[in-house]
Amino acid sequence: MVLNVNGIEVIYNHVILVLKGVSLQVPEGGIVALLGGNGAGKTTTLRAVSNLLRGERGEVTKGSIELRGERIENLSPAELVRRGVVQVMEGRHCFAHLTIEENLLTGAYTRSSKAEVQAGLEKVYAYFPRLKTRRTSQAAYTSGGEQQMCAIGRALMANPSMVLLDEPSMGLAPQIVQEVFEIVKDLNAKEGVTFLLAEQNTNMALQYASYGYILESGRIVMDGPAAELASNEDVKEFYLGMG
Ligand code: ATP
Repeated sequence: MVLNVNGIEVIYNHVILVLKGVSLQVPEGGIVALLGGNGAGKTTTLRAVSNLLRGERGEVTKGSIELRGERIENLSPAELVRRGVVQVMEGRHCFAHLTIEENLLTGAYTRSSKAEVQAGLEKVYAYFPRLKTRRTSQAAYTSGGEQQMCAIGRALMANPSMVLLDEPSMGLAPQIVQEVFEIVKDLNAKEGVTFLLAEQNTNMALQYASYGYILESGRIVMDGPAAELASNEDVKEFYLGMG
């Protein structure tokens, strides 16, 4: 397993218990979906893995998180990026006043030479031809889909082995969501990038993931191979059609 989350509890502001013992595993080269409704704890789980809780006044108070067998709870987000773990935040978080290419370059700080940066850009443009056409446009003037692609592209500039992708479908038209998911599938198949994907769009996520976990009020209530979840009657009733 590349990632092993063992029974973590997360508390915000010293009092609000949000994750109540979450365990999940992500295999090397897999696409794993973390599903559930608004406020279930998906973002919190990703933040716990990439150690971005502190800025939100949150902390892991129980359990452990291992990356390839090594404990990572105390590593800084920057150290995690160096170890290949990069989070793409919900809401697209591009720098509005920078161009698409400048945004991509902000993700390249772990690259050591100009040639590496250039190779990184070329790879991103090969996967996202739309970004190439828009590379000199200010991000503020690009579409929601292009901004989501830019956020993923920026993560790729760090040459990650694992991407934590938070609600890539949010606010996007179904056709664009599909375009984004197809690129995720390609990156997984051709570059071997592992994905942990938080999604409310259960239907779409289960089409692309190999395995899924369903979170409800800070607990995993169901997990299984994506095809099994997609045909499960409870999942169909409560979760398909969401997103
Ligand atoms: P969404 O899709 O709405 O982001 P989610 O499944 O990602 O949902 P989280 O964002 O992890 O859920 O939120 C889980 C719970 O934690 C919610 O009740 C939310 O109000 C609470 N929460 C999130 N961030 C904070 C914070 N910084 N301080 C206090 N409570 C928080």
